[in-house]
Amino acid sequence: MIGPNFQEMRRLMVEGQLKGRGVSDEKVLAAFSKVPRERFVPEDYQQNAYDDYPIPIGNNQTISQPYMVALMTECLALKGEERILEIGTGSGYQMAILAEIAGEVYSVERIEELAKYAETVLSSIGYENCRIKVGDGTLGWEENSPYDGIIVTAGAPNVPKSLIEQLKDGGRLVIPVGGGFSQVLTVVEKKGKSITSRDICGCVFVPLIGKEGWSD
Ligand code: SAM
Repeated sequence: MIGPNFQEMRRLMVEGQLKGRGVSDEKVLAAFSKVPRERFVPEDYQQNAYDDYPIPIGNNQTISQPYMVALMTECLALKGEERILEIGTGSGYQMAILAEIAGEVYSVERIEELAKYAETVLSSIGYENCRIKVGDGTLGWEENSPYDGIIVTAGAPNVPKSLIEQLKDGGRLVIPVGGGFSQVLTVVEKKGKSITSRDICGCVFVPLIGKEGWSD
C-alpha cells in the first residue's frame, strides 16, 4: 500500500493555507516547506497533519493550526541568528519552525510528558539549537535572557511582566491575550522604556497556566 505523500501535503498547505492567506515572509515559508509536521502529531492523526485546524496532542493540549503558527512566527520579523524564547512547547512543531529561522531557541513547557516527547522528536530530526525546560513559562527562562523575541503559544489573561523584563531592547513579544475562551493575538515591542502593543487578530488558545497567567 502506498502511504500518504506528506511532501505534497506540505506543499499544498504552504500554498493554500499560508500564501493564500497572505503569509509572505520567505524565511517563514521556507521553514514550513521543510519541517515534517507529521512527525509532531500523534500517530493516529498523521493523515491530518497538514489539515487547516489544531490537532490534539494529549494531556488536553493541541498543536496549533499551521496558519496560526506561521502568523505568529511572521510577527517576530526574524532575520536569522536571533535568540528566541517560546512558552508552551507542546508538540515541539513551533520550536522546529523557529529553529529553522533563528539562531537559538529556548522553550518552556509545564507538562513534563509533552516536553520529553518534543525533545525526542526534535533531536531525532537533528535540531541542535533547541533547549527545552519543564516549568512555569509565565516566569520566562531568565538564565538565557535577554531574548530578541518571545512567543507565547497559550492564551494569557495579561502580558506577564517577567516576559517583558526578559525581552531585549528592540525585541518583540507575540502573545494571545484575553479571556479563557478567546483572545487577541498581540505584538508587544520594547524600545528603551517604552512598551507598545498592537492587536493582530482574534484567536483561540488553550490557557496559559502559571504564576503570571491563569490559576490551575
Ligand atoms: N507550540 C506548541 C506546538 O507547536 O505544538 C503548541 C502549544 S499548545 C497550544 C499550548 C501549550 O502551552 C501546552 O502544551 C501547555 O501545556 C503549555 N502551557 C500552558 N501554560 C504554560 C506555562 N505556564 N508554562 C509553560 N507551558 C505552558
